[in-house]
Amino acid sequence: MKKVAILGSTGSIGVQTLNVIRRHPDLFQVEALVAGSNADLLVAQAREFNPNVVVIADKSKYSIVNEALSDTDVKVFAGESSSVDAVIMDSVDIVMAAIVGFAGLRPTLEAIRAGKVIALANKETMVVAGAIVTEEASRHGVPILPVDSEHSAIFQTLQGEYHNRIDRILLTASGGSLRGRKRDELEDVTLEQVLKHPNWNMGRKVTIDSASLMNKGLEVIEAKWLFGVEANRIEVLVHPQSIVHSMVQFEDGSIKAQIGTPTMETPIQYALCYPHRVESHLPRFSFYEHPELTFMRPDTETFRCLPLAYEAIARGGNIPCVMNAANEVAVQRFIDGKLRFVDIPDFVAKAMSKASFVPTPSLDDLFACDKEIRAKCETF
Ligand code: NDP
Repeated sequence: MKKVAILGSTGSIGVQTLNVIRRHPDLFQVEALVAGSNADLLVAQAREFNPNVVVIADKSKYSIVNEALSDTDVKVFAGESSSVDAVIMDSVDIVMAAIVGFAGLRPTLEAIRAGKVIALANKETMVVAGAIVTEEASRHGVPILPVDSEHSAIFQTLQGEYHNRIDRILLTASGGSLRGRKRDELEDVTLEQVLKHPNWNMGRKVTIDSASLMNKGLEVIEAKWLFGVEANRIEVLVHPQSIVHSMVQFEDGSIKAQIGTPTMETPIQYALCYPHRVESHLPRFSFYEHPELTFMRPDTETFRCLPLAYEAIARGGNIPCVMNAANEVAVQRFIDGKLRFVDIPDFVAKAMSKASFVPTPSLDDLFACDKEIRAKCETF
């Protein structure tokens, strides 16, 4: 029986993690649930899964959650520091890191320092602080099990291959909701259009990043840190069907792929159960129903966030942190109707060109950098 803490239990990944746990009550017990501000869903989850602790990061919602759970044994806390306290409890075995954005970094890192196994969905943590996170994980002997479907695919194809040299990682991308459009066709796209992802039902930020190809850029950086492969060996392939979740080519030229129906519950379950595979009720993939699997180069002239991410890795230091902060601000502005979708790459590029370079940033430097870039973006 593994005792699980979920950072971001009310989000898309959090809810799907609870779907997996619901189907395997013999394997998992929910120990802690951490949410941002969705008090109603957190309360419903607590009533169903009866965790030891719940945390609502938004302190103004504390009394709602506390009162709603007053007839239960669930302990209720609020605020960012309580999110950390919840995941470092002795009773927690594995932490699903599924807060969106930079906000996920601190609790994930503290969970690593407390020796917890990490199921990592929050890619921004690796993008911003990959060097520190991987170093801390190896110091504390903590496995980081990827949840992102592409990274789970790479991780699965690498089982039994650890002594073999990777020639290339082939990272697949659906292309998102705007695949195939040219720059002039992006001028007036609406939030609603961008959020209509053809294959995946995800949170808003990752869906917008998916459409701009920033998501794939973040994933290239995440893959570099998770698998120790330089970015020039990580190639992005647009694969609109999202069936081949990613591939690895070895030095003998052989390519191994992980294939399946697009659902996040498969990589979530694999991370939670690793190293075992357990039964899944999810529909089996049929090659006859999907006889055509296609692959193409990404259009990096139209979707310029992907080359920006390669530039950020090449420059290194704090630049991925700068890129991430500017992108988070840009995405929020797009959601608020204050920035056009087509202008996101220019916004991010401007922040990257104006940032001062820190070659080997400490954690404090990264927190300062994130704050400074967000403030600077206010003047754009
Ligand atoms: P959502 O926006 O659906 O959910 C985000 C979660 O984070 C919510 O539970 C939210 O709480 C919580 N949250 C936000 N800020 C804080 C905070 N300061 N403290 C505590 N909790 C907070 O995102 P997704 O589930 O889509 O994505 C989560 C992460 O997983 C992202 O990094 C994403 O890139 C990655 N990912 C997601 C995939 C997907 O299919 N969704 C696929 C692969 C990776 P609340 O809603 O209560 O405010």
